[in-house]
Amino acid sequence: MANETIRAAVRAQGRQPVPFFCECADLGCRQAIWLPLEDYDHHTQAGEPILADGHARGHLAAALSG
Ligand SMILES: [Zn+2]
Repeated sequence: MANETIRAAVRAQGRQPVPFFCECADLGCRQAIWLPLEDYDHHTQAGEPILADGHARGHLAAALSG
């Protein structure tokens, strides 16, 4: 996953925000979301996608469109 690569690359940079890709239902979405690594880890450990404002997480979008 692209975000895992970003995470590894910036691991040593500490608490400053870094850009991650939006993980919404649109697989082509490349919206940058700036988060400290700690916040990204919080999302991933909780099983939550990181989403740009107004972007829907995958299963929710599928439910709404289906
Ligand atoms: Zn998105």
